[in-house]
Amino acid sequence: MRLILLGPPGAGKGTQAQRLVEKYGIPQLSTGEMLRSAVAAKTPVGLKAKAVMDAGELVSDDIVNAIVAERIDQPDCARGFILDGYPRTLPQADAIERMLEERGTGLDAVIEFAVNDKVLVGRVLKRADEARAAGQPVRKDDTAEVFDERLREYYKKTAPLIGYFYARRQLKTVDGMAGIDDVTAQIEAILEAVKPREKVS
Ligand code: AMP
Repeated sequence: MRLILLGPPGAGKGTQAQRLVEKYGIPQLSTGEMLRSAVAAKTPVGLKAKAVMDAGELVSDDIVNAIVAERIDQPDCARGFILDGYPRTLPQADAIERMLEERGTGLDAVIEFAVNDKVLVGRVLKRADEARAAGQPVRKDDTAEVFDERLREYYKKTAPLIGYFYARRQLKTVDGMAGIDDVTAQIEAILEAVKPREKVS
């Protein structure tokens, strides 16, 4: 099963991805997490990405596409994966389609989280407070100011993907304003109706 979770920051993609990991035994590929690890390890990619991420802007397509292309060839991705936070631009959407085609496969579903963006900043600030209270590292971009920029980037560069995948008849939408368990149930209902490709190819 190869899935894309699409939605603005704070929509609940990460939370739902973790549940899908448990249920389907396939990994969550969060480009944000991969980039944060690269920043922490001060790799060449991390050094390039840090300032862009701290400002709430998007890292270049070339960097992110290369990270994903490498990651999906790891053995744990053989049965599928959940893309969380990727693709985020039209060139990234083209890139993942091409990557999968080259590997003789394709996407099974793109799940869009429909949310009212007024609740998002509150969710993200709550995540930061909870991390702080638990003594965990707090993301530098989980502030009200940077969040504003992340949301602008989403509308400018990522929201067009909704039309892109809709036109390809791959888009499924869940009500991201519902409770966490309810959203999980909506996703499971969508996935039950999808025929996993590994059975046919
Ligand atoms: P996230 O953890 O998904 O909220 O991502 C955190 C930050 O990492 C974003 O604000 C971007 O700066 C960067 N990032 C993550 N995924 C991508 C992507 N697919 N394309 C460009 N930048 C990304």
